[in-house]
Amino acid sequence: MNERDSEAVAAQLLARGYSLAESEETADIILLNTCSVRDLAEQKALGKMRALAADARKSKRNVILGFMGCMAQARGESLIERLPDVDLVIGTQKFHHVADYLDDLLSGRCEKIIDIDEEKDSQMAIREHLLDGRGQKAVTAFVSIMQGCNQRCTFCIVPYTRGKERCRPIDDVVRECRELAEKGVKEITLLGQIVTSYGRGEIPVKDGKSPFVQLLEAVHEVDGIERIRFTAPHPKGYGDDLVEAYGRLPKLVESAHIPIQSGSNRILELMKRGHTREKYLSIIEKLRAVKPEIGICTDIIVGFPGETEDDFKQTVDLIEQVRFDQAFIFKYSPRQGTKAAEMPDQIPQQVKEERHQILLNLMNRIGAERYGRYIGREVEILVEGPSRKNPDRLTGRTRCNKIVVYEGKQEDIGSLVKIKVTRAGTFTLYGEPIYQSPGK
Ligand code: SAH
Repeated sequence: MNERDSEAVAAQLLARGYSLAESEETADIILLNTCSVRDLAEQKALGKMRALAADARKSKRNVILGFMGCMAQARGESLIERLPDVDLVIGTQKFHHVADYLDDLLSGRCEKIIDIDEEKDSQMAIREHLLDGRGQKAVTAFVSIMQGCNQRCTFCIVPYTRGKERCRPIDDVVRECRELAEKGVKEITLLGQIVTSYGRGEIPVKDGKSPFVQLLEAVHEVDGIERIRFTAPHPKGYGDDLVEAYGRLPKLVESAHIPIQSGSNRILELMKRGHTREKYLSIIEKLRAVKPEIGICTDIIVGFPGETEDDFKQTVDLIEQVRFDQAFIFKYSPRQGTKAAEMPDQIPQQVKEERHQILLNLMNRIGAERYGRYIGREVEILVEGPSRKNPDRLTGRTRCNKIVVYEGKQEDIGSLVKIKVTRAGTFTLYGEPIYQSPGK
């Protein structure tokens, strides 16, 4: 979501006549888009800004420095008090004003700008894309369908930094997808804090279908879009209408990122997640009944206040039971203003580290098994572009969201290519292309 917001700001600045700098060293304006979900992310952003300000002073360059996003929203003016070289602090509902504010700073109309107010309809403003910003046409694109979050998970700062849920109308989202398809985009990822809450209370349920499923159906109609993904859903929102959509909508890929957070019902209750372990397992069972190969990914927090050895064991047990294809494992980070930060029995850092390491090892073992199964098999990928690690190779993803790296031809980019898998690395597959017709 942050990447998507940054992309929209960059595209708005290009439209205003600014250009993308080759590097930080040559940039006249540097904006850091920030995350507040964990303290580490905030500390990294603060450290980075400190270093940028020091570099600018040393080289006597007059660089405009700004913070945008969640940390800007949460800390506001105090960021400038702490780092006086910062010129601009822009909250999560104000991204689309950055171009105007930069004009004001550059023309000398203002010296410092802080804007962290709420703004009605700001969810409509994340629209512009940078489809060939770095010289290569984009094959995949993210589309922001909503902003904010109405859940009150006790660990999470997002509802405070992103505000209440606000959705874009279905037509508006579809229009954006159509424009992207016309520019060659083949895969759309629909984005929101809790996409399964899309349109709740605003768009009526139709034929038993939630507004989110109605949106999926509408995007499915867009010619040229071959694959649809979405993130992040909430287990609460995985009704039978959504499960059934996987069987019915061929463009909806067999992949789901469904955060569980903990395998212990006691902890899930303390987190106020609104789902149980059993409910979660039943969703996975239903999804696998419709799509046996579906790739399932999750988020887990270790060391939530009060998490006992037994609670942790239940998370280990749940991971073994589900056998996720991928899991993002986080050490609980107390966030100011959230309920969990005030709870008793905060877990010592050492214990968090140990539990984190145990789950990383477990996921590496399960990942190796789940990825290893593909060796010798043929998979189909949508080729996205050069591999980041080795630009001589190409990379793409299977419908189940497995990253595949192979040696191919430039013209493969943007098309579906069959790959014979020869090797499995850590959460990556390697293989050889099987081209359909000679000459391609
Ligand atoms: N809105 C999404 C994701 C929110 S942030 C959702 O609710 O599913 C992404 C992930 O960061 C969360 O799923 C959670 O696992 C993790 N996270 C959120 N707050 C955290 C905290 N205080 N400490 C550690 N991890 C956290």
